[in-house]
Order: sequence, then structure tokens, then C-alpha cells
Amino acid sequence: MRLYDTLTRSVLPLFASDGKRLRFYACGPTVYGPAHIGNFRTFSLVDVLRRTSEVAGLNPFYVRNITDVDDKTIKGSAKDGVPLTAFTEKWTKKFHEDCARLNLIAPDVEPRATTHIAEQVAIVEKLLAKGYAYVGGDGSVYYKVAAFKDYGKLSHFHPEELVTQETNSAGKANAADEYDRDHVADFALWKAAKDEDGQVRWEGPKDPASGTPIIGRPGWHLECSAMSAKYLGESFDLHAGGEDLCFPHHENEIAQSEAANGVPFARHWMHCVHLLAEGKKMSKSLGNFYTLADLLEKGFDARAVKYLLVSVHYRAQLNFTLDSVKGAESAMRRLDKAVNALCAKAGVDRAAFEGDALPRASAEEVAKTSFAPALDSLFDDLNTAAALGAMWEALKNEKSAADAKAELAALKTILYALGIQPIPAKDEAPASDIPEEVKALAEARWEAKKAKDWAKADTLRKELTAKGWTILDRKDGFDLKKN
Ligand code: AMP
Ligand code: ZN
Repeated sequence: MRLYDTLTRSVLPLFASDGKRLRFYACGPTVYGPAHIGNFRTFSLVDVLRRTSEVAGLNPFYVRNITDVDDKTIKGSAKDGVPLTAFTEKWTKKFHEDCARLNLIAPDVEPRATTHIAEQVAIVEKLLAKGYAYVGGDGSVYYKVAAFKDYGKLSHFHPEELVTQETNSAGKANAADEYDRDHVADFALWKAAKDEDGQVRWEGPKDPASGTPIIGRPGWHLECSAMSAKYLGESFDLHAGGEDLCFPHHENEIAQSEAANGVPFARHWMHCVHLLAEGKKMSKSLGNFYTLADLLEKGFDARAVKYLLVSVHYRAQLNFTLDSVKGAESAMRRLDKAVNALCAKAGVDRAAFEGDALPRASAEEVAKTSFAPALDSLFDDLNTAAALGAMWEALKNEKSAADAKAELAALKTILYALGIQPIPAKDEAPASDIPEEVKALAEARWEAKKAKDWAKADTLRKELTAKGWTILDRKDGFDLKKN
């Protein structure tokens, strides 16, 4: 499997440097409100990376953080009049619900900034001791960018350019910055407590001058350096995020980690290009700022949203429009029909295809089927657009009965790698049209199935059939269809 690397600006092989697991980190959400579809474009593509690297046999170990302390979370909790933890907990829960609806596999570890303060303080103390940090005029600790010779290696920006940019845009260097920091490019590692932070404060690194801990909170960049090292090691295989994070966030992560630890940080960097909505940058005032909840409310299916989000290569710009979600919905219904047709040809029950009864084909097995080009495209810099094109092409081709089962298992692998799910093609009966007794029978059958009481489940299914209803199993529930 190969993937573009922002650091070297070339497509490089992806591999587990310890020979066991592909250790990778993605910057997670700041939990102060609902994540928007732009955030989910990045998280969905990272999910495709997670899934595809598993299919490639790289045995991924995936860490994604939760930013639960920063200016926005503090402001939001103060506005709602609730403690910071209650506030961020609410939005973390909503984020997880959206992730589940979008069929995103949970990371192996999902650490939160506020429960890793000690690890962050330790980095600041190391940087102070090594001369990469200093206490500024406002009592906060700053990173001394000039001390780190590799600063700018990821984004190809240099501190000197930043001075020029800042001086040009503001007319002159900002006076407050001059007072607090030695250089405009220097960034806060630890922010001294301010009144507006309320109770959000911890004992921080010791001030080298007085030996007393500085009360305050971590700067935003610090958490990712601390938590990636804790769960993945000081050097690890890959770091991912949206393109806006490349500078300054990721540049600062590199500066902090490499100066503190003296070893290379992430070896390989993946950045997802930001999406546009209705042709423009998303903004609340333009009315093109969509959350998943907004789209569900408009009657769209999360499975269509997911298909659309992964349909464009992560290094190309996706223009997300409501019309294209409609198109995605009909594509996912077409996919459902194609899966049913292939199931019928292979003599495989649809429930077996959805469940564990039909295992996914291995990469080697896929290579022997008509879905080989789809997997090849994913292995080649995660080209989801080409993979989907190849998948539709393969579905068009007539399969022989002898090959159908292997083809079906291969299709299952492709759908798994992309994390997409068909939408039942039949016209689903609105819940209100289903008679109560039918609903009750279907519920009872689902319970029996969950309890692995196959005989009872079978009997109940037959009763449903006799009443003119078909039950279609999904992974997490069922749909009812009138015959
Ligand atoms: P945040 O919660 O703002 O820290 O963002 C979470 C993730 O979403 C980061 O990786 C961002 O780079 C990414 N992101 C933010 N806006 C967009 C967008 N319009 N398109 C794609 N990714 C985005
Ligand atoms: Zn980060």
C-alpha cells in the first residue's frame, strides 16, 4: 500500500516500522458543538485508511484524540453555565453518535486532553530544561521556534516569512505579542490562568526562576505530542488530519516532540483537502453549514452522506451539495440491488452476506476477482474515486455461477475498506404503515436471533412471511418489506 506523504511530498510505501502494527494518529474533534460534514470528510477518509490498511495486512493501531479544553470549549461551557467536563461530555457523546451513523470504526484509543495533563506538563518541563522554551511576559510558557532548526519542514514555511507576513498584514508587529513572546512565531505551550478561564486550571510546569508551578492550562498543540507518545511511542508510523492542521498545528507538534524527545516524530503525514459545500467554504451565514443532524432532518440517509464523503480522492476537493446527496442515495440503492443479484447468483443469503457467515475475501483472494482493480486503487494512495469507479464497473460484468461466491466475498471486502453500506432498494414501508402485530413479531424474531435461538427466529420469520412481510437483516437491526 502506498500513500502520499506531505513531509517529503511524494507517494511512499506505508509500512509498520516495528514489523507488527501500523501505528497512526489522527487529530480528533474539538468538542464544543456538533461536528460538521467537513470534519466528517476528514474522519471518513482516515477511516478508509484504517480499514484499507487492515485489508492490506498492516494491522493498524489507531489513536484519535478528543480536544476537550481550549478557548472554544471554555467559552461554550461558560455560556451554558455548566462545568467544562459536563459540556464536553455532551458534545463527545453526540460526536460518537454521528460516527456510528457514518459507520466509522472507533479508534483503538481515544484519549482526552484533560486527562493527560501530567504528560503534557512533563513535555514543557523537558523543553524548558533543554532551552527550547521560556516563560513570557504574561507568565505563560512559550516555545522558542528559533531554537528548533527544522521548524517549517512539514509546511515549508519559515519563521522569517511569518515575521514578514505578520508585519505586512498588521502594518507593524503586534505590541502584545512583542511583550509576551520573544518572536511572533513562538507559540504557547502552557497558558497562565486568566480570569475568563474560571475553574479550568491545573498546576503546571515549574517556573525555572521561582521553582513554583505555573497555574494554567495546556496550549492546544501540546496534547497531540503528549498523547501520541504515550500510546504510540515517541516515533510512530503516520499522522493524519485536515489540511488546515498542517500549519501551524502539525508543525508545532513536530517542534515540541522532536525537541523534547530527540528522535523523529511521525514518519509519514497525510492531509485531507477541505471540502466545499454548495461550491463555497462552509459558513453559518451562507446557509451551507451542514451537520449530519441537519441532513438527517432533511430526510437524507446517513449511508448516502457517507458514500458522498468518500467518493472523491482525499487530495482533491469535494463539493458537497444537497443534489449530490440525492445522487448518492440512489447509488446506494442501486448497490443494494446489485448485492442482492450477486447473492442470488451465489446462492448466499443476504443476511449471510451482511453477517459473519460469508467471510470477507483476503487481499490475495480479491486479486483473483473482477474487484481487483478496486482494491488496487485503494492501495494506490487511497484512491477512493477510482476504487468506486472500478467497483461499479465490476458490478456491471456478468458473473458466472461458479465465480459468484468469490466475487461476492471480494465485493464485501471492497465495501468494508470503503466503509460504505447499501440502502435497501425496496420502498421501505413507513413505520406507520406496518401493523403493530407485524412489528411485534419482527421484534420478537430479532430478540430470538440475538439470543441465538435460531429455531424460534425461523418460526417467527415464517409467520411474518405468511402475513405477507419480509424481514431484511442489517448489522444492527432490520427492515420490513411488504411482499
Ligand atoms: P476540529 O474539530 O476543528 O479540530 O477539526 C477536526 C478535523 O476536521 C480536523 O482534522 C480538521 O482539519 C478537519 N476539518 C475541518 N474543516 C474541514 C473541512 N471543511 N473539510 C475537511 N476537513 C475539515
Ligand atoms: Zn493534533
